Amino acid sequence: MATGNSRADRIKQTPLTRLRRARKRGVFDRETVYAIVDATPICHVGHLIEGRPVVTPTCHWRSGDHIYWHGSRASRMMQASLDAAVCLTVTHLDGLVLARSGFHHSANYRSAMIFGEPQIVDDPELKMASLERFVDGLFPGRWETLRPPTRKEMNATTVLTMPIEEASAKVRSGPPKEAPGDELLSIWAGEIPLTIAVDTPVPDRFVADDQPLPAHVSGYGLAQQTIENE
Ligand SMILES: Cc1cc2nc3c(=O)[nH]c(=O)nc-3n(C[C@H](O)[C@H](O)[C@H](O)COP(=O)(O)OP(=O)(O)OC[C@H]3O[C@@H](n4cnc5c(N)ncnc54)[C@H](O)[C@@H]3O)c2cc1C
Repeated sequence: MATGNSRADRIKQTPLTRLRRARKRGVFDRETVYAIVDATPICHVGHLIEGRPVVTPTCHWRSGDHIYWHGSRASRMMQASLDAAVCLTVTHLDGLVLARSGFHHSANYRSAMIFGEPQIVDDPELKMASLERFVDGLFPGRWETLRPPTRKEMNATTVLTMPIEEASAKVRSGPPKEAPGDELLSIWAGEIPLTIAVDTPVPDRFVADDQPLPAHVSGYGLAQQTIENE
């Protein structure tokens, strides 16, 4: 949870982030936005390549009030995102909502949209530290057990970041909304909840039979550990 954030707890709405549709589902407190961002490593980055919109799935992490993602130096997504306007979205599908009419079927979800112009993290120490946070955010304590990155690996990797400054979240939960009178129809309605399950870890063929499972593997949970203050 986002305790000790370095900025005000509410994100200021802008003409871009003010919800027009289903306004009551809009959320602008940092705690909720950050909880949505931290609950999965997967996001989608919307950017332009040669004037055409492209939405690229990738992994992200958060440190304080900034969001980060990384990629190959050669990645067109990384190149096109640098200093350009992007929209990064994080989505959780929590359930399918079945109403008594097709029109009122819906989904329960938590999603966040973050707008900005990413900057490159080019200071070598900051870049290394942010990659460490990415790994340790997913698997606490793993970084110090790993072979350190080589200069070549670091050069091949680009890290981008932007402040979580212009952002919104939208959340739907609960039963279907029905047209008046439809509740009386003899049709099943309700929610099919959905979750992502963590399955049993599978060692590769080089792991010795007696090698203990690290705690960050045996206790793996999808939510990322974040560092609240940079
Ligand atoms: C899993 C899932 C399923 C969905 N299914 C549908 C569907 O089938 N049909 C449908 O019309 N909509 C669906 N939505 C909602 C959809 O994301 C949009 O909110 C909706 O279509 C309204 O779009 P708009 O451009 O009119 O929003 P507007 O209200 O005009 O958007 C204005 C601003 O509000 C914020 N905003 C809008 N939507 C979101 C969001 N989802 N998360 C965070 N911030 C947001 C952004 O800052 C945006 O710039 C779904 C959302 C999720 C997460």
